[in-house]
Amino acid sequence: MNVSLSRRRFLEATAGLSVLGAATPLKARDPSRLAGQPVRYQGETAYATPTICEMCFWRCGILGKTREGKLLNVTGNPDHPLSRGRICARGLSGVQLYYDPDRLKKPLIRIGERGEGRWRTADWEEALDRVAAGIQQCLKKYGPNSIAHFPHGSSARYFKELMKLLGVSRYSSASFGQCRGPRDTGYKLTFGTGPGSPERTDFDETRVILLTGSHIGENVHTSHVRDFSNALSRGAKLIVLDPRYSVAASKADFWFPIRPGTDMAFLLSLINLLIREGNYDHQFVEQHCTGFEELKHAVAYATPKWAASVTELKAEQILQTAKILGDARPRVVIHPGRFSAWHGNDTQRSRAHAILTALLGCWGREGGIFLSSPISLGKLCMDKPGKPVNPPPRHHPFIHEGYPFQEILKASINKTEDPVKLWFLYGTNVLHSMPVPEQTIKALKQLDFVFMTDIQPSEPALYADVILPESIYLERYDAPFKVTSAKQPFIALRQPVVEPLYDTRDPYWITRQLAVRLGLESRMPCQTMEEALDRQFSEIGSTLAEVSRTGFINGHGKPYYSSGAKPRFRTPSGKIELYSHQLAQAGLDPIPRYEELEEVPRKTLRLLSGRSPYHSFTRTMNNMWLTEIMPVNPIWINNKVADFMGLKNGQLVELENRFGKRVGPVPVLVTPGIRHDVVFLAHGWGQVAPDLSIAHKQGASHNNLISCFKEDPATGATGLRCNYVRLVVDNQVVSAPTPEEIGIEPRAEVRPISPEAPVLLPVTPQELESSGLLMEMEEEEELEEEGC
Ligand code: SF4
Repeated sequence: MNVSLSRRRFLEATAGLSVLGAATPLKARDPSRLAGQPVRYQGETAYATPTICEMCFWRCGILGKTREGKLLNVTGNPDHPLSRGRICARGLSGVQLYYDPDRLKKPLIRIGERGEGRWRTADWEEALDRVAAGIQQCLKKYGPNSIAHFPHGSSARYFKELMKLLGVSRYSSASFGQCRGPRDTGYKLTFGTGPGSPERTDFDETRVILLTGSHIGENVHTSHVRDFSNALSRGAKLIVLDPRYSVAASKADFWFPIRPGTDMAFLLSLINLLIREGNYDHQFVEQHCTGFEELKHAVAYATPKWAASVTELKAEQILQTAKILGDARPRVVIHPGRFSAWHGNDTQRSRAHAILTALLGCWGREGGIFLSSPISLGKLCMDKPGKPVNPPPRHHPFIHEGYPFQEILKASINKTEDPVKLWFLYGTNVLHSMPVPEQTIKALKQLDFVFMTDIQPSEPALYADVILPESIYLERYDAPFKVTSAKQPFIALRQPVVEPLYDTRDPYWITRQLAVRLGLESRMPCQTMEEALDRQFSEIGSTLAEVSRTGFINGHGKPYYSSGAKPRFRTPSGKIELYSHQLAQAGLDPIPRYEELEEVPRKTLRLLSGRSPYHSFTRTMNNMWLTEIMPVNPIWINNKVADFMGLKNGQLVELENRFGKRVGPVPVLVTPGIRHDVVFLAHGWGQVAPDLSIAHKQGASHNNLISCFKEDPATGATGLRCNYVRLVVDNQVVSAPTPEEIGIEPRAEVRPISPEAPVLLPVTPQELESSGLLMEMEEEEELEEEGC
């Protein structure tokens, strides 16, 4: 079915709903399993079911409205603790995803060559038998290390557990390696716990917010944007470091267009100034931190004058920022960001954020970063897997989620001793999220077996031997979400609003069917998803029927330390570690220090990327309503640079990287709101999957320009901002000007001051893994910390 609505009609469709009354009893609609309650909608009775959005990974609470089994619209759930009635354009467009005629409708089996995209339909029995046979053959011939899986999002939970039951330990998530891995690691090394997802920024009570390259308002997470906006309306000051005049920068009291890759210099200088001026929280530091003297000594070189020359900002701006932060402490949010893999030194940059937060005493205090609060949830209806036997070694001491993609890629392409032969892709577009996509294609072509579970025929599907179509989030249950990163923790339920439109299945059903075929039936004792959820909720004294009515269960929060509290932090010392013993043991800098990046090669521009408020990665590019709002991704370019190159706003250009890879054409967006040495291209466009009729060849692929990356030594995360481009106009490559050519004084040569860091004896990754606190936390935080 193809429902085509204009944007105006879609926005109108969100109005005019009234709930008949909270007291209205749940009315089961036999034989339906759906939990909708009767409401009035456009003068007639409809049914509203509370569930969780999955148009991105923020998990807002929504109400899906139906009549006679047809989906009418999706709105925010006013009672839901996270969304409180508000959702974004993508959330509203879930209806269009449901009716998208390009969706996967039945299992598919490849009949052409890999990459050709020719399949035949199959029934579930045959498709599952094929997948199980592929897994069994691989296990028998090469063992569990020959299987790699690529999960994304919380719905992957059951599949991840099944893989572990099979002894498979090789997995890689873009949400860790390309997004928040370095950030979480930097905070865990400092405080023993991450900053949470949602981030635990206390916007309700804050007086100052410092954003370093964080694109709130473009990376739209509805409740976060709302709380951020409310803080600004209440008068909180906003300071933004960003080479680009982002949406957040446009709301800022101070926008500092910093030289890319030099944020560390700015942060270290702030730390140095706060210590030097004594404008930090002495009591908090004395009571809770360790390594202050070492920190003081290590950052002494980071004077405002030095940092100004590095960052191409003014020393006064750094002095002013330090004063604003120090004077407002502890009601300061040093935003931890989310997309943290930039230049390869990213765990250390996140450490600098965390150290600044500790110095200002903003951890667990009103107006800073509030504490997570536990809430109980029963166990998954699946046996707990044991520890994998002989997993591949980890080469990065602090990777605490799977393995770096580039390592799996290498083991998939090269004939290593421990090769990868099978890939299982779950809801992730590896060709648009992982660097050097041509290498990914090479691997996909030569593997023994590739299968995937998805909702749409994305680009990686072209290489899959078997495709298992999953029901979309409005048609299925998922494992419940435990949200501890809220002032009041809660458990939320995703449940079906409508029956599946096509021959698709929920993740538990698919996982269990595979488990049955792989001899693991007894390890998944619940027959259905409903039974599994009911059992899980019964362990906390509830039932699936009960939770279905509201869609969530609230817990009790304790977001701040009480006065006189003596918390023990989950670090080796039990304190907040300004000097990290774990980093020192691994042979890495125990205190962050500035490292100069390579210069932008002459005549090129550094490629920066980020999100669009209307799209989530590649997942929404085939959504008619969203594409109507933002069909392509223009390339942002500085007005002086554009003038020099003879470019006009809206003119179509291609982009070419240093290795001759070209993308586009896309229109140029000429603006003074971006530095002269960078361009910005939003991520997710430029897909070539032929069966995505709307997304096909729309815009330019940022990822196709990513021919190199810088690896974060702590986590193996891949920083992508080391790629440079030139523009191509009418098939002619046009070089970028030098600073002098557009009247910008060249930067004085900066002599990097990198004091020798104290280093303790290194230990092997295996030793760290068995003793490391970070690894222990992996499982505990798994439910909360998924998605980018
Ligand atoms: S932020 Fe938007 S897309 Fe993401 S979960 Fe919320 S409503 Fe859905």
